[in-house]
Amino acid sequence: MNQPMSNKCPCGGGKYTKCCQPFHQATKLPRTPEELMRSRYSAYARGLEDYVRATWHASTVPENLTLDDNPAWLQLQILATGLHGNRGYVHFKAYFQQDDEIAVMEEQSYFIRENSRWYYLDGEVS
Ligand SMILES: [Zn+2]
Repeated sequence: MNQPMSNKCPCGGGKYTKCCQPFHQATKLPRTPEELMRSRYSAYARGLEDYVRATWHASTVPENLTLDDNPAWLQLQILATGLHGNRGYVHFKAYFQQDDEIAVMEEQSYFIRENSRWYYLDGEVS
């Protein structure tokens, strides 16, 4: 238990410092729905509640957003992405630990760009 955090990015995109950390530290803005999706997944994996909230569109963000019962996220797999103007989507599978088993959630997430920032809008779980 209590191991130091790996320097690999949870999203699988390489070193954390060169992948999602600049987004989490707001030194860089995600340019595509996929970058935002990856950085949000990594934020869930690292328990960065503020980042999850800040990247959720104001019209759909849950009032009482909390990562208290956030599972241990293991792996992200991007299946498809699409971009059309200021709208985009990412179809993904995310693997997590549930008791002694590995579980998976599959979702198509929708994103919207406002004032050159991407936000998560909503998603359809498959
Ligand atoms: Zn990453």
